Amino acid sequence: MNALGLNQGTSGNIGFRAGGRFLVTPSGLDYDAMTPADIVEMDFDGNHDGRRRPTSEWRLHRDILATRPEVDAVLHSHSLHCTALAVHGLEIPAVHYMVAVAGGTTIRCAPYRTPTTQALSDVAVEALAGRRACLLQNHGAVVLGETPEACVGLLVEVEYLAALYCRALSVGDAIGADPRVISQRKMAEVLEIMKTYGSQPGPDPSEA
Ligand code: 13P
Ligand code: ZN
Repeated sequence: MNALGLNQGTSGNIGFRAGGRFLVTPSGLDYDAMTPADIVEMDFDGNHDGRRRPTSEWRLHRDILATRPEVDAVLHSHSLHCTALAVHGLEIPAVHYMVAVAGGTTIRCAPYRTPTTQALSDVAVEALAGRRACLLQNHGAVVLGETPEACVGLLVEVEYLAALYCRALSVGDAIGADPRVISQRKMAEVLEIMKTYGSQPGPDPSEA
């Protein structure tokens, strides 16, 4: 994530379902220095094993994994453009059809709550209802997926959409116009198309 410019320093964290438990990144540890032994295993009551303390946002990972059985991975980051919009409490509207990649016609922004708290987890779960991505006001973004790699891929898309919307707002300022938003009716067509987008017949070429 840091190499892709999607995060910086020790910000952000990842959670991954492991049977009836889950794995999270340790709190405040440099990603470059992290080894598998630093990963923390937790149960859904918040107990943890291992030599490190879990991410301070473990409640967020626990609650999303508990309420969203269809995903196995959660990624939180402070990526720049997502956070720039979140500073304004802005959601990402359908300024590009790829907003549908997160499962809906917008990417919502959860209201500000103190980092690491149950209150933050609660508003994030709500903003993610029916979606695989949301922004966190004055904080960052959260994305969901089947694997940590899929989460990184989705974050690349969401960060692009956020950067695009930031640029479009600037252009709009310069010409005195608001960005055009795709209608709900037209986005319903995109959401239908996205159900099968990217599926190919035959074996997965990445496994060849
Ligand atoms: P951790 O280092 O505890 O994972 O915290 C980073 C963060 O982004 C908190 O919101
Ligand atoms: Zn954070």
